[in-house]
Amino acid sequence: MDAGGWIEKALAGRWIAGPTIEDAIGKAKSLNRHHIRAILNYLGEAYNRKENVDKAVASILELMDAIGNSGVKADVAVKGTQLGMLLGWGALVGNYRRIVREGAKRGITVWLDMEEHKYVTKTVRLYLLVPRRGRTGICIQSYLKRSISDMKNVTRHGGMIRLVKGAYTEPESVAFQSREETTGNYYVLMDYLFRNSKRFTIATHDEAVVRKALELNKKYGRDVTYAMLNGIRGRLARELAQKGEKVSVYVPFGREWIPYSYRRLKEASNLKLVVRSIFERGL
Ligand SMILES: Cc1cc2nc3c(=O)[nH]c(=O)nc-3n(C[C@H](O)[C@H](O)[C@H](O)COP(=O)(O)OP(=O)(O)OC[C@H]3O[C@@H](n4cnc5c(N)ncnc54)[C@H](O)[C@@H]3O)c2cc1C
Repeated sequence: MDAGGWIEKALAGRWIAGPTIEDAIGKAKSLNRHHIRAILNYLGEAYNRKENVDKAVASILELMDAIGNSGVKADVAVKGTQLGMLLGWGALVGNYRRIVREGAKRGITVWLDMEEHKYVTKTVRLYLLVPRRGRTGICIQSYLKRSISDMKNVTRHGGMIRLVKGAYTEPESVAFQSREETTGNYYVLMDYLFRNSKRFTIATHDEAVVRKALELNKKYGRDVTYAMLNGIRGRLARELAQKGEKVSVYVPFGREWIPYSYRRLKEASNLKLVVRSIFERGL
């Protein structure tokens, strides 16, 4: 971590496990002690050079080896633009297929993160194209107006969804702009999941949403995982795990920490949250 001001570095240190695979595995072990599963994400995105894509794919495969060898309970999350989406469809599909195959061998779920709206159609297509072998999932963002149709498409094909609010700055033509509308749509999409999907992930730090999901699941009895980001609302994650709920924490690691950290900084919309993020007890 070699750029940025002190506050960005302090926050990145809370949100990101560290630069190496060992750091990621170490973080997963400490989460596992609290009965929390890790979703490990090798940082890197928007690659338009083959060398970068190849290095990312090699690192992700190495990570999967390390997960298998260490026996930690962890899955991985990857991004389309990290695997070659900006270079060509063939390479992208080949890279993703390789990672999914490796995951299936080792019992590791491979999550496809969702990026900016201009990549959503391709990301959903990629997800549905590659045989899923029971161990892949895709992120859907409630701030996008199109998401109900993507959710129906993925669910119809037996895919597994991780529902989030959405982290990028998107235009009004495609996305809800206010937190109220985004949260309102989260409830609509979550309701759809409870009615139509057996297994999914509610990925949010919004306690009201989590409480609503817990209540809905008393009626529906679905296989629900609650997921949060490393360094945010750790106490809530621990409490849910202690009550016997399935919990995952998304843990980024690697050297390319700036885009991820800026997305988090933008969300921590007031100083109180920034300070809380720095000082809140980790897991
Ligand atoms: C497991 C997981 C995977 C994700 N994957 C993706 C993805 O693939 N694509 C994508 O676009 N987005 C992804 N996100 C991010 C997501 O879209 C939101 O940007 C992020 O979770 C903040 O929204 P929220 O649901 O927590 O609700 P908000 O309404 O934004 O926040 C609810 C509360 O959480 C706390 N909080 C939220 N953010 C912060 C912060 N940075 N610092 C301190 N406190 C905070 C605050 O107390 C806030 O009031 C993911 C999130 C999670 C948890």
